[in-house]
Amino acid sequence: MVNLLIFGPPGAGKGTQAKLIAKAFTLKHISTGDIFRQHIKENTDLGKEVQEIMNQGHLVPDNLTIKILKNAITDLKSYNGLLLDGFPRTLAQAKALSKITSINKVINLVLDDEEAIKRQTGRRTCPKCNKAYNINVPALKPKYDETCDYDGEKLQERPDGKFEIVKERLKVYHQQSQPVLDFYKEQDIVLNIDARPNIEEIFENIKNSLKT
Ligand code: AMP
Repeated sequence: MVNLLIFGPPGAGKGTQAKLIAKAFTLKHISTGDIFRQHIKENTDLGKEVQEIMNQGHLVPDNLTIKILKNAITDLKSYNGLLLDGFPRTLAQAKALSKITSINKVINLVLDDEEAIKRQTGRRTCPKCNKAYNINVPALKPKYDETCDYDGEKLQERPDGKFEIVKERLKVYHQQSQPVLDFYKEQDIVLNIDARPNIEEIFENIKNSLKT
């Protein structure tokens, strides 16, 4: 079993890299954020409970999140291990996780606050075909203004991309999640990866550093 964890501030591209890594190493990708978003979409009781918390950029309580994570660690037969994305985000979650399974490496995507804010506030989606864009990232910009390349629809901002919410998520990240990183640094398993290059280059750097 190889269990990896991907870490970094909101906007660092954790989800994108997680998908690539999970595919390359046949790991089960578990994103607590994705699980919560799915519950919101399906309007479940849990979805109703977490929607407001997420919209405000705050963290879902530890007991709920740990339960969700435990339930997601199933059917591992066809995988080489886990890739956790967005969990743990607090020291209590990290300690709970250490009782569930061990973590081999932590991939820490490093991005400064200014760039993290730029990326998150630049996110846009097409209301018709759901294609994702980013008006502040050259490779992800739409061809014309803020309209979809495929159907010409006016692109929409994401509710969690508002400046105040983005600032709040970053504040929460620094306050609650930094101790998580320190917890893994003490175990000497953190790989720091620059999150500024393009997607392919970051992925190459991750693969290379996992080899060492
Ligand atoms: P993400 O997609 O990982 O950025 O997560 C989106 C939102 O889901 C976060 O801003 C939190 O509100 C919630 N969330 C996801 N993972 C966790 C976690 N491990 N602990 C608490 N809240 C979480």
